[in-house]
Amino acid sequence: SSKNHGKNTFTYYNEEMGEANKRKFGIFLNMKKALQKNELYLEFQPQLDIKQNKIVGIEALARWKSSELGDISPAEFISVAEETGFIIDLGKWVIENSLAAYKRLSHKNGFLLDLGINVSAAQLHGGYFYQFIIDMLKKYNIKPENIKFEITESQIMQAKEENIKKINRIRELGIKISLDDFGVGYSSMNYLTFLPIDEIKIDSSFIAPITEDNKMRVLVDSIIYLSHRLGYTVTAEGVENKEQLELLKEMSCDRIQGHLLSKSLGYDELETFLKKH
Ligand code: C2E
Ligand code: MG
Ligand code: MG
Ligand code: MG
Repeated sequence: SSKNHGKNTFTYYNEEMGEANKRKFGIFLNMKKALQKNELYLEFQPQLDIKQNKIVGIEALARWKSSELGDISPAEFISVAEETGFIIDLGKWVIENSLAAYKRLSHKNGFLLDLGINVSAAQLHGGYFYQFIIDMLKKYNIKPENIKFEITESQIMQAKEENIKKINRIRELGIKISLDDFGVGYSSMNYLTFLPIDEIKIDSSFIAPITEDNKMRVLVDSIIYLSHRLGYTVTAEGVENKEQLELLKEMSCDRIQGHLLSKSLGYDELETFLKKH
């Protein structure tokens, strides 16, 4: 009967939720210890300027090898961190450690690159974030012009008035702002005219089909055209093959990032990669 069906569905649903919450709670508890236990580390993914055919940037990506839970993907632990407020501490750790690595990299080798750091909207509103940024730039003696904060489209659009205010202040320091995962947020497009941003990163889910799907190709071409007309640079993420790269070149895309060029690399691997290129 429909009554029985409803009951079963409810029980099933409940157990599912129980498991998911248990996992999240486990992640949350272990994450707090992970910072002290040095289980978190950073990898860096290089970015290529297609016109100059030159490596011009890196993106810092958080990694976690948990002694209790094994490897946890950032997609999973970042979302738990965001839900629990732990993203504030984690975000500070990411900023300080990526700046330290960046400093070491440019000091040792004289590389002049952009450093992209993923920032959650919650961090913008955390106490003292603005001052923390100023302190860190000073501590590592890094020019703000070389730093880019990547914030996802969907996060910026939640509480957009507040976010714009915070982003404007950060941008006045000289730090660049990148609209990450562009295209997956499904919000209306007029916001592109008033968001304080410098760059658009087209999400990998838009890049993946461009070699097969003519309409997706037209869509990406139009996004690049539109972004340029509005004064933003464009990075395509998740570029995995030469055919995609060729199409993106034809479309005048500025930069690419993805496995075709390199996966994300540990610090030493990155140094080796940069010396080769
Ligand atoms: P994102 O910022 O869009 O980063 C790009 C993601 O695509 C990374 O996944 C990267 O490893 C992956 N990727 C790069 N090239 C390719 C490719 O050619 N093919 C495919 N299939 N994937 C590729 P990752 O490292 O798993 O990170 C996932 C997301 O987690 C990031 O997406 C970012 O939103 C978030 N994240 C990572 N580190 C941090 C952090 O320190 N803070 C915050 N707030 N979020 C972070
Ligand atoms: Mg990113
Ligand atoms: Mg992205
Ligand atoms: Mg993405």
